[in-house]
Amino acid sequence: MIQSIVEFFKNLPPKECVKCGNKIEEQHECYGNQCDSCMGVTDI
Ligand SMILES: [Zn+2]
Repeated sequence: MIQSIVEFFKNLPPKECVKCGNKIEEQHECYGNQCDSCMGVTDI
């Protein structure tokens, strides 16, 4: 059954930035749908 769990996570679509379309590494859950770059831009 471990095999199917691995496949489940592999089949999850990568999170993408809604602004530039870059893939977001899911380590910052509070980031929402924007990547580091776009989050930085909004900070100006
Ligand atoms: Zn972005």
